[in-house]
Amino acid sequence: MSRLVIVSNRVAVPGQSRSGGLVVALDGALRATGGVWFGWSGKASRDGTRGLNSTSEGNVDYVTMDLTEADVAGYYDGFSNRTLWPALHYRLDLVEYSRETHVAYRQVNAQFAERLAALLRPDDRVWIHDYHLLPLAGELRARGVGNPLALFLHVPFPPSDLARALPNHDSVFGAMSAFDLVGFQTRRDCENFDAYLRDAAEAGEHVSGRRDRRPLTRAFPISIDEGEFARAAARARGSAGLRGLRDSLGGSALAIGVDRLDYSKGLAEKFQAFGEFLRRHPANAGGLTLLQVAPLSRSGVRSYRELRRELEQIAGHINGEHANPQWTPIRYVNRNLGRQTLAGFFSASRLGLVTPLRDGMNLVAKEYVAAQDPDDPGVLLLSRFAGAAEQLGGALLVNPYDIGGVANAIAAALRLDVAERRERHLQSLRSLQEEGIHWWTSSFLQALESRANGDGPAAAARDAPPRRP
Ligand code: ADP
Repeated sequence: MSRLVIVSNRVAVPGQSRSGGLVVALDGALRATGGVWFGWSGKASRDGTRGLNSTSEGNVDYVTMDLTEADVAGYYDGFSNRTLWPALHYRLDLVEYSRETHVAYRQVNAQFAERLAALLRPDDRVWIHDYHLLPLAGELRARGVGNPLALFLHVPFPPSDLARALPNHDSVFGAMSAFDLVGFQTRRDCENFDAYLRDAAEAGEHVSGRRDRRPLTRAFPISIDEGEFARAAARARGSAGLRGLRDSLGGSALAIGVDRLDYSKGLAEKFQAFGEFLRRHPANAGGLTLLQVAPLSRSGVRSYRELRRELEQIAGHINGEHANPQWTPIRYVNRNLGRQTLAGFFSASRLGLVTPLRDGMNLVAKEYVAAQDPDDPGVLLLSRFAGAAEQLGGALLVNPYDIGGVANAIAAALRLDVAERRERHLQSLRSLQEEGIHWWTSSFLQALESRANGDGPAAAARDAPPRRP
């Protein structure tokens, strides 16, 4: 049986923190065939060494590469997080483009390719993850690698005109054509990418090589291990932490939001919508509390620091306007919680508020559904711009930019009777049960396998003499 090789920016090495359904599912896939998980160690060395570190567990090798501080500044903090992340989330206004970070991104991808090519056996299947590694297939092909190469993009792919606005977009997005298979979260992302390839070709913008071969593109909506999360919620129900939260609320119902502190998550709009709800429904004062858990991320990037300040101001303003001595409308918490605690908090919440302005999938929405008590479930308010909206048919879909509309949806959700809440919950739960994280892994790998046996770029590369970069 062919080995599986997984490549991602960071590697979940045994012995380090490895919670989460994705890590478990990818590890399971690796163990089924034996294989390698390859990526950056997370370490930045000052002296320029780029050592390889290797750990094995059973039939799986975890191989990581150190980067230099300059690599990390250019490739990771720079081009990945300051340029590609906003571009892929439709935020051209926040894109910072510089030639230096673009070059660093290309160079680190070339280093990944150099190291990885030496590890590969001829019949390995290679599964590459996310926006940090978009040019990696091209770099591997340039080194004569003929293995089947697949990419899964965890974030959205924007409409063609936005993608084509990125300077030198062909060397990043056009380079994705060198994969045999490119998986996206939603059909919309898939259509956007197909349109991008077509439009860029028609406009003569594919400058870095032949683009007459197309990767197979398909949507594979990522998911969670619904059963595992439901069990964590059940365990949390009798816990002291949850009792403490309930006691602190007095009689107030809970609305919960859990999002990394990121501009894509629409946190400012969510706070404003909650404030608008309180203004329109003053009788609810004291009756509903929003717990927003938002761990800090990417604090080195200016737009993230500005967002943090903005959120503190808005939360402070709404609390000042509506709080009374017994009740604070918004509890805003910038820390990480344990998975079981989180699952318990979801299950205790009458409302889940998941309102990103744009999100590849949004696993929090799925976790909220999985954590509910099926006999008395809460209601999920979900942005129609989250990938999860394609599957969670029982959610109340909202436009996060429409502050008044979200405020009204909060009021409507509170009015739903138990029969409707059950029906909506069941509808969403079924899709999680049918298409969970293990379905995602196996359907992606099946598609890669059938592509490997077909006539993708892998077949062409096998027949062609290696090019040197
Ligand atoms: P993103 O990958 O953009 O951060 P997702 O919603 O897809 O967004 O995934 C976030 C994951 O991180 C979820 O599994 C969620 O439970 C977890 N998470 C987010 N915030 C916290 C927190 N404060 N404490 C613990 N886990 C968190």
